Amino acid sequence: MNNNHEPRSVGRSILRGLFRRCPNCGMGRVFGGYLKPARACGHCGEGYAHIRTDDFAPWLTIIVMGHILAPIIFHVEVNYSPPTQLALAFWIPAVVILTLILLPLTKGVCLGFMWALRLRGDEMQ
Ligand SMILES: [Zn+2]
Repeated sequence: MNNNHEPRSVGRSILRGLFRRCPNCGMGRVFGGYLKPARACGHCGEGYAHIRTDDFAPWLTIIVMGHILAPIIFHVEVNYSPPTQLALAFWIPAVVILTLILLPLTKGVCLGFMWALRLRGDEMQ
């Protein structure tokens, strides 16, 4: 485990979190399940269950999805005007699948960021 006063690299922690790895050692997994933080890293023992990211990851997912998919949908609609049923049949599953793929990545980013800054998620209470 890290010394409580040892500086932590925010960028490295975010990058490790993005790959769903332990922000501390980069070897163990940061999640025990799909989105549930691991109680402790299997490699270094650093705990993550005490960090509450709350809505941070969903908001980050929405921001990323909006910047990726909204321009693509707009471009397709303006240039190709697909039938509404076809557009809905494609875009709704695409949004759901991409969101489910992106959510653990953004949660890993949030956990890495909060861990690097020694935030627990209850600072404002
Ligand atoms: Zn670790």
